[in-house]
Amino acid sequence: MTQPLSTTSNAELFAAANQHIPGGVNSPVRAFKGVGGTPVFITKAQGAYLWDAEGKQYIDYVGSWGPMILGHAHPDIVTAVQQAAADGLSFGAPTPTETTVADLICDIMPSIEMVRMTSSGTEACMSAIRLARGYTGRDKIVKFEGCYHGHADSLLVKSGSGMLTLGVPTSLGVPEDFAKHTIILPYNDIEAVQRCFAEFGSEIAGIIVEPVAGNMNLVIPVDGFLQCLRDECDKAGSVLIIDEVMTGFRVALGGAQQRYGVQADITTLGKIIGAGLPVGAFGGKKEIMQCIAPLGGVYQAGTLSGNPLAMRAGLAMFKHLTQPGFYDQLEAQLAKLLVGLQQAADDAGVAFKTQQVGGMFGLYFTDSDDLSSFEAMTHCNIEAFKQFFHGMLKRGVYLAPSAFEAGFISSVHSDADIAQTIATATEVFAEMAV
Ligand code: PMP
Repeated sequence: MTQPLSTTSNAELFAAANQHIPGGVNSPVRAFKGVGGTPVFITKAQGAYLWDAEGKQYIDYVGSWGPMILGHAHPDIVTAVQQAAADGLSFGAPTPTETTVADLICDIMPSIEMVRMTSSGTEACMSAIRLARGYTGRDKIVKFEGCYHGHADSLLVKSGSGMLTLGVPTSLGVPEDFAKHTIILPYNDIEAVQRCFAEFGSEIAGIIVEPVAGNMNLVIPVDGFLQCLRDECDKAGSVLIIDEVMTGFRVALGGAQQRYGVQADITTLGKIIGAGLPVGAFGGKKEIMQCIAPLGGVYQAGTLSGNPLAMRAGLAMFKHLTQPGFYDQLEAQLAKLLVGLQQAADDAGVAFKTQQVGGMFGLYFTDSDDLSSFEAMTHCNIEAFKQFFHGMLKRGVYLAPSAFEAGFISSVHSDADIAQTIATATEVFAEMAV
């Protein structure tokens, strides 16, 4: 019989994990390939903190890649999940709660008139693409270099996140026959979008875009970029898919669409709507959403979709997110952190920049003022990031283990946590300046 692991050492746990799990991880970025060294194995999280198997405590700026906007193990969410679990884990049948969550999402995001739950962001984006194709009867999809929309075949072309971290942005195993329908354009390049639509507009089923790119570090849309996507889709009869898996309920209650005033035809959402439990969703105009089964001919399904634990957790979380001032406070707290980090880097003479959108941030080791493109991200100093990352980790601050990921703050990161993070960074920048 296999025994539970007796070791508490991260290195030994990683060695053991590598025996039966490819690369020792269940999702590539976790393997620390982007920064080197051994991943830390997390055993507990509470509020703004994580603890690893060795008992070391960290201030967490990953937040399970975004959804822990209220901090870890929030008591209201834990209670909601416990109560839901006591009522049964999954039925594969409709529940009243999923209707309430759908109603809430439609209230908060006006571009969503109908919504379908999935179990992950990947499924949401994959389904949105199929729906755009089914609705328009066209095959071509436009995607932007460095954007990640999950690991469906059509979307694993010049992708961000783990693929960018590993330096293999296009996956093996994606048939050329699929990839040829994906047109890749540079993020924030309005002219390239216009040229592409002038040439192929009538063949384009849709555009999929991260409205704030968070999978190639953080790249903010330039003025007019999202509006240009809206305009070109309107002219060509193509579907605009805004992927708010990261930005939804994170950069504002109504996501990037609220912040930038551009409406999607289909929006994809992810783990945040289940407060960190496995969930996703895609929703949009009724006319388009009615094309999915059982109403229409575009098939889409999921045994665990709308899982009752995830729905009850999400509902408990939304109660907090809809409180007046929630996002102002989140944004102000993050601004304090970034001002402090910038000051610390400047004092040490380290070339460093930061950017923020709502509760999401980017850190850039560069002199350049241009942080608006995928190319600019690839020119940042990756070695400096690695040094910073490990200096912070060693001292108890957990950042995303890749220079090509955004960071996240929660509503329970206190002034003391921020002060401690800045003090830690001051030490690390001083070390880097030597
Ligand atoms: N879209 C975006 C913008 C993402 O950041 C991610 C993953 N973080 C996905 C889609 C895929 O979501 P998942 O990993 O839940 O499948």
